[in-house]
Amino acid sequence: MRQDINHNIQDIQDRIAAAELAAGRPAGSVQLLAVSKTKPVRAIVEAYLAGQRHFGENYVQEALSKQAELGAFDLTWHFIGPIQTNKTKAIAEHFAWVHSVDRLKVAERLSAQRPRYLPSLKVCLQVNISEEPSKSGIMLSDLATLAAAVRSLPHLSLCGVMAIPEPQFDPIIQRMVYRRFYEAVIALKVPELSGFSMGMSDDLESAIFEGATWVRIGSALFGARA
Ligand SMILES: *Cc1c(COP(=O)(O)O)cnc(C)c1O
Repeated sequence: MRQDINHNIQDIQDRIAAAELAAGRPAGSVQLLAVSKTKPVRAIVEAYLAGQRHFGENYVQEALSKQAELGAFDLTWHFIGPIQTNKTKAIAEHFAWVHSVDRLKVAERLSAQRPRYLPSLKVCLQVNISEEPSKSGIMLSDLATLAAAVRSLPHLSLCGVMAIPEPQFDPIIQRMVYRRFYEAVIALKVPELSGFSMGMSDDLESAIFEGATWVRIGSALFGARA
C-alpha cells in the first residue's frame, strides 16, 4: 500500500494544532519531529517536500548513510535511540540534537567530540518513567544531578527532557503519566529543562495536553514499520 506522506503530514499538523488549541497553548508551541528510522530516503524527501525539516533517527549507521544521500537538503537531524559509547563521536559530528542522553559519560564524550566549527549540540535527558529498570533512561530521582553536570559541559546545550512511557490505550492514563512527569521536572526548577520531547503516534494529544514541546512521530507519518 502506498503511503501518502504529504497527506499524513497535514493530518498530523492538524492534530497538533487542534491539541494546542484544546490545551490552551499557543499555536506553534509544539514541534513535529518526523521519525524516519527504517524508512527509505525517498520517504524523507516526500516529507521534506511537504514542508517537514526535523527528522529523528535511532540507528547511527542508518542515519549516516541517509544523511550522505540527503546532503543537499537543509534538514535538521535528531538522534533519538539508545547511545553506545563507541557511537558518540559519529553522533556529535552528524546531529544537531540528541534526545536520548542518559548518562554523564555519554554527555561528556558528546561534548568533547562535538566539532568546534558547529554550534553546541542540543541535548535532552532521557528519563525512564515506566519504572521498569530494563528500559533506557535515568530515574527521575537522578535527573537533577545529571542536569547539573550536563549544564556545565562546554559544547552541549541542555534543552529539556525526553520520555517514552509504556504504551497505554486509555488517554486518561496517558495524560496522568505525562502530567506526573511534567510536574516532577518543573518542580526541579532547572531553567534549561524547558523542552519536553514526549508523545508519539498513538498519544500525541495526551502529551500536548501535558506540556510536550516536541512530538516524535513515526508510523502515523510514514506508515507501520516492518
Ligand atoms: C520509533 C520511535 C518513535 C516513533 O514511534 P511511532 O509510534 O511510530 O510514532 C518515537 N520515539 C522514539 C524514541 C522511537 O524510537
